[in-house]
Amino acid sequence: MKQLKEMTKANIENRPPSQICTHCASTIEPFFIETIGWKFPSVCPPCDQELTEKEQKITSQKELHDLLQKSGLKGKLLTHAFSNFKHSESPQVFQLAKSYAITFITPDVHHGLMLFGKTGTGKTHLACAIANHIINQNRISVKFIKSIDLLFQIRRAMNINTDEELKFIEQLANCPLLIIDDLGSEKITDWAQQVFYKIIDDRDILGKPIIITTNIDIRDLANRIGERTASRLASMCKLVAMSSKDYRLKTK
Ligand SMILES: [Zn+2]
Repeated sequence: MKQLKEMTKANIENRPPSQICTHCASTIEPFFIETIGWKFPSVCPPCDQELTEKEQKITSQKELHDLLQKSGLKGKLLTHAFSNFKHSESPQVFQLAKSYAITFITPDVHHGLMLFGKTGTGKTHLACAIANHIINQNRISVKFIKSIDLLFQIRRAMNINTDEELKFIEQLANCPLLIIDDLGSEKITDWAQQVFYKIIDDRDILGKPIIITTNIDIRDLANRIGERTASRLASMCKLVAMSSKDYRLKTK
């Protein structure tokens, strides 16, 4: 007890004078650590907090930048939001898409969406609005890919080697949300149908949702992408019909 008292006295006597915060020039007091002795923080507590917050903001912005870059969203697709969707022709679909995006982080959202309707009904806009919302608000990875690019990339990966093909399939099968735009715009070959089915099947097993936009109905879709893939998609997704006089004409 006596020893401790003496130590405390010695500490107080050795206490260095106050210093100046290198950031805001206010006075900072030293603090004592038993095994080390007197220490000075380089900045005062308010500055420390400010700098930490700034750092966190930069990290978060970097994270957002990376997520957007890897998402496959580019150019005007990045500007598609709920706020600039002209939803007077399809208010229910708009609400459904918006609440899907907002509730996406809740554990009970595992279903996907299949937005079908004629060209120009705003399907791609809504799908991108969902993606942009989820990436920006929740920092969750979303992969957006046009059906034609998907086929092109599968072919390319297959031509490189099997490892590359598997890596590509794995990425599409594992990302938290996969969006395939304009599905069925072309008839796909047998091998591509198999790869495609593998991606969908893996996602179904893992309980990961998928959003599809297409302008052909589910029966015709079976002819283009294969019966089992089409029926699997139908079981994984809520079917949403979109109609509008011509969405793209109207937004111009
Ligand atoms: Zn300071």
